[in-house]
Amino acid sequence: MSPTPVKAWRCEVCGYIHEGPEPPAECLVCGAPASEFTPCEQPLPPLVPAPAGAVAAPRIVVLGGGIAGVAAAEAARQAAPAAEITLLDGEAELPYWRLNLTRLLDGEIQEDALPLHPAGWYEQQRIRLLPGVTATALAPERHEIACSNGDTVLFDKLVLAVGAQAFLPPWPGVQLAGVQALRTLADTRAVLDQLRPGLRCVCIGGGILGLETAGALAKHGVHVDLLAGDGWLMPRQLTQAGGELLARHVAALGIHLHTGAKVRAIAGTGRATGVQLEDGRELPADIVLVTAGIRANLALATAAGLHTRQGVLVDEWLTTSHPDIYAAGDCAEHQQVVYGLWPVANFQGTLAGLNAAGQRSAFGGLPRSNVLKVLGLHVFSIGDFAAPAAQVLEQQSEGQYLRFAFMEGRLCGAILIGRAGLDAALKGAIEHRRDFSTALPQLPTAAAFAAYLAKHPA
Ligand SMILES: Cc1cc2nc3c(=O)[nH]c(=O)nc-3n(C[C@H](O)[C@H](O)[C@H](O)COP(=O)(O)OP(=O)(O)OC[C@H]3O[C@@H](n4cnc5c(N)ncnc54)[C@H](O)[C@@H]3O)c2cc1C
Repeated sequence: MSPTPVKAWRCEVCGYIHEGPEPPAECLVCGAPASEFTPCEQPLPPLVPAPAGAVAAPRIVVLGGGIAGVAAAEAARQAAPAAEITLLDGEAELPYWRLNLTRLLDGEIQEDALPLHPAGWYEQQRIRLLPGVTATALAPERHEIACSNGDTVLFDKLVLAVGAQAFLPPWPGVQLAGVQALRTLADTRAVLDQLRPGLRCVCIGGGILGLETAGALAKHGVHVDLLAGDGWLMPRQLTQAGGELLARHVAALGIHLHTGAKVRAIAGTGRATGVQLEDGRELPADIVLVTAGIRANLALATAAGLHTRQGVLVDEWLTTSHPDIYAAGDCAEHQQVVYGLWPVANFQGTLAGLNAAGQRSAFGGLPRSNVLKVLGLHVFSIGDFAAPAAQVLEQQSEGQYLRFAFMEGRLCGAILIGRAGLDAALKGAIEHRRDFSTALPQLPTAAAFAAYLAKHPA
């Protein structure tokens, strides 16, 4: 019997589902290449109408209209056709593809491509969306939420999907006008409004977001100084060799990279005029963009007595320390990990929504993976690529760097720079603990392993 033909493909970067026998050449939403798509089940089944005369529908409330919150509301609707579902979001926009803000900054997409769904979708799904309404207090025992518009919302089950905010380190001068982060659409508009020829921007942070921001601004002809506090770029995702190869690409884009740069203060009175470094230099700046990591939004949960650490603590069912409250996405901490990643927020949101609607779907953790957008160089990193006891295949050539790490014949981490087409296969191999111990002795180099994987992706 021939295998069932593939009918749908999921983009592993943003979760977009493409229907068809083949993946698209690139993702319509985030621009990821076809190699980022994996076959998936059909998209969620069509909406089941509420049964006539249904009563006592549980009230499911979702706090936060990021991807975790929208995924939770959508999944809850699928699992509980009769439930009353309310989605509160502090931002005044329709919920949007936050991970595409750098593509908006870059000019690759326009604002009309940002909403996750048109306004009518929420009505059609019978999800009561309240944009611009912030939850100001939560009373778990009374099952009550106080809102910024003065209303009180009651729930039977609650999903906390309040996400995270950008971390601004307490440097002197950090509060000056002209210093900002890039977390929201409003932040992005504020930067776009200031763009003009000759603008000088200092981007602080050598991680993915800092790089994407710097790359997007450089495309507009902005003079960009990129400060990376560590010895190389993307230290959490790349080895030194990988980071140095990426640095050469970044320099070729006209970005002025300063590795090992430690910020002492932001200079200026009233408005930022530069960034002072600990080595005594001062880099002039009209705007300073800080991408120094995120902090989960915990105030509401902490004040409500829920258990928190770096995030709101959840178990495998994404339940918090209160049995009727779930948490998902950038605000949630599962087994000491706050992922801070779009696909994980999407997945956790879906599971939390299903569980709030009465199902039992467990979250077992996911390997962290990252793809760099915007810069025109394929950079992919996954899992524990630097595991101390791992067997490593590593290879570098002009414009390309490959690294594969194995523990007892099973892939535990990988880095690809300048080599597309293997991301989904690597993800699958790590998630399914694929055993390469028979093949590995015949694969002496990283290039040989890459060729093998391309031929045998699953
Ligand atoms: C520019 C940019 C690019 C990125 N690119 C990538 C990428 O390429 N790949 C990747 O994996 N990840 C990427 N990320 C990270 C990714 O966007 C996040 O992991 C993801 O958005 C988390 O989703 P979330 O729903 O948990 O939280 P959020 O997106 O933070 O959404 C939370 C929402 O809750 C609302 N909220 C907060 N408090 C309240 C309250 N009290 N009441 C009501 N509403 C509230 C907020 O306003 C917000 O709208 C990127 C992030 C940024 C900023």
